[in-house]
Amino acid sequence: MTAPLIDPFARAISYLRVSVTDRCDFRCVYCMSENMTFLPKKELLTLEELDRLCSTFVGMGVEKLRITGGEPLVRRGIMTFFRAMSRHLESGALRELTVTTNGSQLRRFAAELADCGVRRINVSLDTLVPEKFAAITRWGRLDQVLDGIRAAQEAGLRVKINTVALKGFNEEELFDLAAWCAREDMDLTFIEVMPMGDLGNEDRLDQYWPLRDLRARLAERFTLLDLAERTGGPARYVRIEETGQKIGFITPLTHNFCESCNRVRLTCTGELYMCLGQEDVADLRAPLRASADDAALEGAIRAAIARKPKGHDFDYSRQVVAGKMSRHMSHTGG
Ligand code: SAM
Ligand code: SF4
Repeated sequence: MTAPLIDPFARAISYLRVSVTDRCDFRCVYCMSENMTFLPKKELLTLEELDRLCSTFVGMGVEKLRITGGEPLVRRGIMTFFRAMSRHLESGALRELTVTTNGSQLRRFAAELADCGVRRINVSLDTLVPEKFAAITRWGRLDQVLDGIRAAQEAGLRVKINTVALKGFNEEELFDLAAWCAREDMDLTFIEVMPMGDLGNEDRLDQYWPLRDLRARLAERFTLLDLAERTGGPARYVRIEETGQKIGFITPLTHNFCESCNRVRLTCTGELYMCLGQEDVADLRAPLRASADDAALEGAIRAAIARKPKGHDFDYSRQVVAGKMSRHMSHTGG
């Protein structure tokens, strides 16, 4: 292994999130427009290129890989990639291989994911009401996702539910969602909606439900104990004293996590985003395709990490979406 990746603020980069496709079988209203134009195939990294790129990062000290998208499990042949990454788990270089999915394809793939060494997965789900699920995802079916979650649990995967907190949409389901996760022995994390992309049909400020308000609602009924536990990411956790359940809050709009940020994001075209909230990007596809030797690629990765910014500029406080990003979450994978 070569020298580890350390950024200018002395943060070790040990976590890579990889978007393996920009496509999806859903069209969640806060993520995509109804008529998306997806990238032409030749723009995408092949599965072999993804393998080489991720393996290079692993060789440089990345210990955790999260596979995301778009919907990662709709990419054709994606299990070949999971199988390839499992060799790094076996060698001990990689500590965790995981996936963030909408759950629609889990009935097909859960057992194979488990066989590839995946132990925990995140499933995104915002409501337990079938009609509301159909409305928010436009194309999704709740029963298919619930069946997928069941398949994941049958395969021995630990499931965490990610729920985007949406004002006027799932506020009333807060306790139902929490109770369902407790019953199914799944962790639950709420995500604050981010000003991503210009979807044309949605006013993001209207949907914004600050997690401090959500937390206050929970605290009306339960005693919340703050947990010290951090994952190097934007999540904070509490334990509900009465039930023992753990609940996470991801507040990407506050700066409270940047100082411990250990991650970078790779898009399906080989662009490396050093910060979710900044436009700065490094092209890794060119050095990847220019030479079969990894030296140029490693140099490009180090140069990119040397530019990782201290933090991001999101700010809702003045009721304008300052620092709004023009790219969609499905591009960087959230
Ligand atoms: N398709 C997979 C899924 O839905 O889990 C993986 C990709 S999706 C872009 C990753 C996460 O980003 C999901 O949990 C989704 O809810 C979240 N997300 C998408 N758009 C968002 C937004 N504007 N604000 C906050 N979270 C968002
Ligand atoms: Fe697809 Fe995930 Fe975006 Fe929904 S949030 S449209 S499931 S990529």
